[in-house]
Amino acid sequence: MSLPTGKNVIGLDVGGTKIQCGLVSPTGKILAHVTLPTEVAKGRAAIMHNIMMAIEAVWKKNTAAIGIGLAGLIDHRLGVYRQGPNFPKSFRNIPFALLLGKKYGVPVRLDNDVHCFSLAEAVYGAGRNHRNVVGITLGTGIGGGIVINGTLYRGKDNAAGEVGHMIIDLSSDAPCGCKNKGHFEALASGSAMARLYKLRTGIDRTPLEVENEAKNGGKHALAVLTEMQHGLAAGLANIMQILNPDVIVIGGGLRRVKMLWQPAIKEAQKLVIYPELKKTVIAKSILGSDAGVLGASLLTREAPM
Ligand SMILES: [Zn+2]
Repeated sequence: MSLPTGKNVIGLDVGGTKIQCGLVSPTGKILAHVTLPTEVAKGRAAIMHNIMMAIEAVWKKNTAAIGIGLAGLIDHRLGVYRQGPNFPKSFRNIPFALLLGKKYGVPVRLDNDVHCFSLAEAVYGAGRNHRNVVGITLGTGIGGGIVINGTLYRGKDNAAGEVGHMIIDLSSDAPCGCKNKGHFEALASGSAMARLYKLRTGIDRTPLEVENEAKNGGKHALAVLTEMQHGLAAGLANIMQILNPDVIVIGGGLRRVKMLWQPAIKEAQKLVIYPELKKTVIAKSILGSDAGVLGASLLTREAPM
């Protein structure tokens, strides 16, 4: 089926607790929106039922396609959801493109949530006046997406832009979510904040507690933030150096920690070698919770794979 360009499409952001679904115009206006619980604990049939309820709640005659973003491993060519951290074992290998394509008679596109975030920010958000955009989400983990002229660069296996597991420091003892050490996510994510604190002090703290302790001048927390600052700077510098993007758009909870960001950006500028690279714009995401729905809708507007 050929993909629509000038028609309204549906975008879904299927998370571990809620499904956000919108009918989106060709200019990125959300014409109708619904939020439903995902109910992951109830298993595959209930999750699929909720997804279809969300689609039907915003569906209008002439809806031309459906795009879906979920966290996890996705075969974007076949439109199959393989597996991911938010969903139970029963919710694996779901052939969304086939199932929903048959049910609704429209093309269905699927990709991971960070690709959707990056695409939305590149086209409608903080990257909209730029050609080449890298999106990064700094939350519990770190995800990324590379958007070139409005299209995601996926690489051979849809793994391009996986910045979270970029190696920052081979000699580091900081553990990553993937069990390796010294990765970007091990040094610069929300979970890194807690893990590094535990590693250096033996004490359990939440990321928010570490942040507050640092604000009050606590020396252990400040040391953790300095370690993270170096990690963050190296990661940003690598991205600038390899891709020379117009802008790096940052989303996720950690973006709020100003005392980490400002010095990290300055340090990154010192680490890159060309003066032009030092001017790489680093912008805060602006679409908030709409990014998932808008990005999923944009999947349906990409050229055929
Ligand atoms: Zn890793």
